[in-house]
Amino acid sequence: MNNITELEHVTHALKLTGIAPRIETWLQDAAKQEWDYAEFLFRILNDELDTRKEKRCESSIRTARFPFIKTLNSFDFDYQKSIDAKQIKEFAKARWVANGDNIIFLGPPGVGKTHLAVALGIEAIKQGYKTLFITAQALLTTLAKAHSENRLDEKLKYICQAKLLIIDEIGYIPFDRQGANLFFQLIAKRYEKGSLILTSNQPYASWGDIFGDRVIATAILDRLLHHSITVNIKGDSYRLKEKLKAGLLSKNHTQQ
Ligand code: ADP
Ligand code: MG
Repeated sequence: MNNITELEHVTHALKLTGIAPRIETWLQDAAKQEWDYAEFLFRILNDELDTRKEKRCESSIRTARFPFIKTLNSFDFDYQKSIDAKQIKEFAKARWVANGDNIIFLGPPGVGKTHLAVALGIEAIKQGYKTLFITAQALLTTLAKAHSENRLDEKLKYICQAKLLIIDEIGYIPFDRQGANLFFQLIAKRYEKGSLILTSNQPYASWGDIFGDRVIATAILDRLLHHSITVNIKGDSYRLKEKLKAGLLSKNHTQQ
């Protein structure tokens, strides 16, 4: 029997795509390291498992529709002193997603809200949680369209399939009455079922103005804040740092 060819054929047929291209190397390693049967079997199957997890992760990251891919490793915690690095690293374990809690990042533009939201979304995906990223504006457009086409329930159900929903940039554009209503329906539907990450450049006190109606803003905040952790980021925009580095601004500019 031509061992390698046969094995390649069988592993392909079984869709063991991690093992298939490396069979020869595996066999050589096994001989060299003198692995016993159990060890050999464990190592190749474990490698297959890792390959599958990685593939699933990559595909879930694509379907999450992040605006960019950034991780916690590339976040400079020294630059943003108001952020508790330990707390964010704890969030990376995604226990809060398992509990159905929410995280809300508040702060001015450029301080890393979207970066952290994406990074935590990727961590949640790694732990197996279906995640979806959408800007508040895109969400409203999607919900309003579904509503006008009599498909709101279906759309809400689809969005709620994600165990973690990230809604970015609440407050850049005010909601109209219908928008606030649709947003409330989404929040009420997800309440105590799925987790949210929200980002906003506006403090909670201004959310009445964002939603154009104090009553609905209170109803939304009531549900959002019930099981939530707010991370207030204060400090300079990271974009400013990059401009300073590039020599586009003088140091005095940051002190104004
Ligand atoms: P925000 O959403 O708060 O407006 P972003 O998360 O979009 O800000 O950050 C703006 C840019 O600066 C992004 O490219 C982001 O990756 C980067 N950035 C922000 N804060 C940091 C940081 N502390 N370390 C590394 N990169 C950062
Ligand atoms: Mg942002």
